[in-house]
Amino acid sequence: MKRRTLVQALIGLPLAAAHLSLSAATRTQAEIDAMRSRWRDLLASDFEAPGPDEKVSLDEEQWREQLSPQQFQILREEGTERAFTSALNDEKRSGVFVCAGCDLPLFSSEMKYESGTGWPSFFTTIPDAVATKRDFKLVWPRTEYHCARCGGHQGHIFKDGPAPTRERWCNNGLALKFVPGDAH
Ligand code: FE
Repeated sequence: MKRRTLVQALIGLPLAAAHLSLSAATRTQAEIDAMRSRWRDLLASDFEAPGPDEKVSLDEEQWREQLSPQQFQILREEGTERAFTSALNDEKRSGVFVCAGCDLPLFSSEMKYESGTGWPSFFTTIPDAVATKRDFKLVWPRTEYHCARCGGHQGHIFKDGPAPTRERWCNNGLALKFVPGDAH
Protein backbone atom coordinates (compact mmCIF):
# COMPACT_ATOMS: atom_id res chain seq x y z
CA MET A 1 0.00 0.00 0.00
CA LYS A 2 1.36 3.41 -0.92
CA ARG A 3 1.97 5.67 2.03
CA ARG A 4 -0.57 8.20 0.81
CA THR A 5 -3.22 5.48 0.46
CA LEU A 6 -2.44 4.20 3.92
CA VAL A 7 -2.78 7.67 5.40
CA GLN A 8 -6.08 8.11 3.60
CA ALA A 9 -7.27 4.77 4.94
CA LEU A 10 -6.22 5.75 8.45
CA ILE A 11 -7.89 9.12 8.40
CA GLY A 12 -10.94 7.82 6.55
CA LEU A 13 -12.54 6.16 9.54
CA PRO A 14 -12.48 9.07 11.99
CA LEU A 15 -13.59 11.39 9.20
CA ALA A 16 -16.57 9.18 8.50
CA ALA A 17 -17.35 9.06 12.21
CA ALA A 18 -17.00 12.84 12.48
CA HIS A 19 -19.34 13.27 9.55
CA LEU A 20 -21.91 11.00 11.16
CA SER A 21 -21.82 12.80 14.49
CA LEU A 22 -21.84 16.17 12.71
CA SER A 23 -25.06 15.39 10.86
CA ALA A 24 -26.62 13.90 13.99
CA ALA A 25 -25.52 16.90 16.08
CA THR A 26 -28.08 19.01 14.24
CA ARG A 27 -30.68 17.35 16.47
CA THR A 28 -31.27 19.07 19.78
CA GLN A 29 -32.44 17.65 23.07
CA ALA A 30 -35.66 19.65 22.60
CA GLU A 31 -36.27 17.76 19.34
CA ILE A 32 -35.66 14.43 21.08
CA ASP A 33 -38.15 15.42 23.78
CA ALA A 34 -40.66 16.37 21.06
CA MET A 35 -40.23 12.97 19.35
CA ARG A 36 -40.81 11.22 22.66
CA SER A 37 -44.03 13.10 23.25
CA ARG A 38 -45.54 12.91 19.73
CA TRP A 39 -45.01 9.20 18.98
CA ARG A 40 -48.79 8.62 18.87
CA ASP A 41 -48.95 10.81 15.74
CA LEU A 42 -47.17 7.99 13.90
CA LEU A 43 -49.39 5.24 15.25
CA ALA A 44 -51.96 3.75 12.85
CA SER A 45 -55.40 4.96 13.94
CA ASP A 46 -56.82 1.41 13.87
CA PHE A 47 -54.09 0.00 16.12
CA GLU A 48 -55.17 -0.32 19.73
CA ALA A 49 -51.99 0.20 21.66
CA PRO A 50 -51.84 -1.19 25.20
CA GLY A 51 -50.17 0.80 27.97
CA PRO A 52 -47.06 -0.20 29.95
CA ASP A 53 -49.11 -0.59 33.12
CA GLU A 54 -51.42 -3.22 31.62
CA LYS A 55 -49.01 -5.98 32.59
CA VAL A 56 -48.89 -9.29 30.75
CA SER A 57 -47.80 -12.32 32.69
CA LEU A 58 -47.83 -15.67 30.91
CA ASP A 59 -46.17 -18.92 31.88
CA GLU A 60 -43.53 -20.56 29.72
CA GLU A 61 -45.97 -22.82 27.91
CA GLN A 62 -48.26 -19.94 27.01
CA TRP A 63 -45.34 -17.93 25.63
CA ARG A 64 -44.19 -20.91 23.57
CA GLU A 65 -47.67 -21.14 22.05
CA GLN A 66 -47.68 -17.47 21.18
CA LEU A 67 -44.14 -16.98 19.87
CA SER A 68 -41.98 -18.65 17.25
CA PRO A 69 -39.09 -20.70 18.71
CA GLN A 70 -36.63 -17.95 17.71
CA GLN A 71 -38.77 -15.24 19.23
CA PHE A 72 -39.13 -17.27 22.40
CA GLN A 73 -35.38 -17.62 22.66
CA ILE A 74 -34.85 -13.87 22.29
CA LEU A 75 -37.79 -12.48 24.26
CA ARG A 76 -37.96 -15.01 27.08
CA GLU A 77 -34.36 -16.29 27.28
CA GLU A 78 -32.44 -13.12 26.37
CA GLY A 79 -31.09 -14.54 23.13
CA THR A 80 -29.62 -12.45 20.30
CA GLU A 81 -30.41 -12.87 16.62
CA ARG A 82 -27.58 -12.93 14.08
CA ALA A 83 -26.62 -9.48 12.77
CA PHE A 84 -28.04 -8.40 9.39
CA THR A 85 -30.85 -10.98 9.50
CA SER A 86 -33.79 -8.71 10.30
CA ALA A 87 -35.97 -7.15 7.61
CA LEU A 88 -36.55 -4.30 10.06
CA ASN A 89 -32.98 -3.09 9.49
CA ASP A 90 -34.22 -1.57 6.25
CA GLU A 91 -37.63 -0.48 7.48
CA LYS A 92 -37.84 3.23 6.71
CA ARG A 93 -41.59 3.89 6.58
CA SER A 94 -43.19 6.04 9.23
CA GLY A 95 -44.91 4.12 11.96
CA VAL A 96 -44.32 2.53 15.33
CA PHE A 97 -42.26 -0.46 16.47
CA VAL A 98 -44.12 -2.52 19.06
CA CYS A 99 -43.08 -5.44 21.25
CA ALA A 100 -43.56 -8.73 19.38
CA GLY A 101 -44.70 -10.32 22.63
CA CYS A 102 -47.43 -7.91 23.74
CA ASP A 103 -47.85 -5.02 21.22
CA LEU A 104 -46.60 -2.31 23.58
CA PRO A 105 -45.21 0.57 21.46
CA LEU A 106 -41.47 0.87 22.18
CA PHE A 107 -40.07 3.17 19.46
CA SER A 108 -41.41 5.42 16.72
CA SER A 109 -39.85 5.47 13.26
CA GLU A 110 -38.45 8.94 14.02
CA MET A 111 -36.22 7.40 16.70
CA LYS A 112 -34.56 4.90 14.35
CA TYR A 113 -31.17 5.44 12.77
CA GLU A 114 -28.70 3.47 10.67
CA SER A 115 -26.02 2.28 13.08
CA GLY A 116 -24.37 -0.09 10.62
CA THR A 117 -24.33 -2.83 13.26
CA GLY A 118 -26.87 -5.11 11.57
CA TRP A 119 -29.54 -4.67 14.24
CA PRO A 120 -32.41 -2.16 14.24
CA SER A 121 -31.08 0.77 16.27
CA PHE A 122 -32.74 3.70 17.98
CA PHE A 123 -31.36 6.78 19.77
CA THR A 124 -34.24 7.11 22.22
CA THR A 125 -37.40 5.28 23.28
CA ILE A 126 -41.07 5.93 23.84
CA PRO A 127 -41.37 7.11 27.49
CA ASP A 128 -41.93 4.38 30.10
CA ALA A 129 -41.89 1.63 27.43
CA VAL A 130 -38.73 -0.17 28.51
CA ALA A 131 -36.92 -1.05 31.72
CA THR A 132 -33.25 -1.91 32.13
CA LYS A 133 -30.98 -4.18 34.10
CA ARG A 134 -27.28 -5.06 34.07
CA ASP A 135 -26.33 -8.39 32.58
CA PHE A 136 -23.06 -10.25 32.73
CA LYS A 137 -23.49 -12.72 29.87
CA LEU A 138 -20.29 -11.51 28.26
CA VAL A 139 -17.04 -10.75 30.06
CA TRP A 140 -17.97 -7.09 30.54
CA PRO A 141 -21.24 -5.88 32.06
CA ARG A 142 -23.88 -4.67 29.63
CA THR A 143 -27.18 -2.89 30.13
CA GLU A 144 -30.02 -5.10 29.03
CA TYR A 145 -33.46 -3.63 28.35
CA HIS A 146 -36.85 -5.23 28.15
CA CYS A 147 -40.49 -4.40 27.46
CA ALA A 148 -42.09 -2.70 30.46
CA ARG A 149 -45.38 -4.52 29.85
CA CYS A 150 -44.47 -8.21 29.34
CA GLY A 151 -40.83 -8.22 30.44
CA GLY A 152 -39.71 -9.55 27.04
CA HIS A 153 -36.01 -9.01 26.37
CA GLN A 154 -35.43 -6.57 23.51
CA GLY A 155 -31.72 -5.78 23.36
CA HIS A 156 -28.87 -3.82 24.94
CA ILE A 157 -28.06 -0.12 25.26
CA PHE A 158 -24.69 1.20 24.24
CA LYS A 159 -23.21 4.67 24.59
CA ASP A 160 -22.00 5.12 21.01
CA GLY A 161 -25.20 6.48 19.49
CA PRO A 162 -25.67 9.87 17.83
CA ALA A 163 -25.81 13.18 19.73
CA PRO A 164 -27.45 14.48 21.75
CA THR A 165 -28.55 11.27 23.52
CA ARG A 166 -25.45 9.23 22.54
CA GLU A 167 -27.65 6.20 23.18
CA ARG A 168 -27.80 3.20 20.86
CA TRP A 169 -30.75 1.01 21.70
CA CYS A 170 -29.64 -2.11 19.85
CA ASN A 171 -32.77 -4.17 19.31
CA ASN A 172 -33.44 -7.67 18.08
CA GLY A 173 -35.65 -7.36 15.00
CA LEU A 174 -37.53 -10.54 15.95
CA ALA A 175 -38.52 -8.96 19.26
CA LEU A 176 -40.34 -6.15 17.39
CA LYS A 177 -43.27 -5.78 15.05
CA PHE A 178 -43.53 -2.76 12.80
CA VAL A 179 -46.94 -1.09 12.57
CA PRO A 180 -46.99 1.30 9.59
CA GLY A 181 -48.68 4.63 10.20
CA ASP A 182 -51.80 5.82 8.40
CA ALA A 183 -49.78 7.30 5.54
CA HIS A 184 -49.02 3.73 4.29
FE1 FE B 1 -43.94 -6.75 25.59
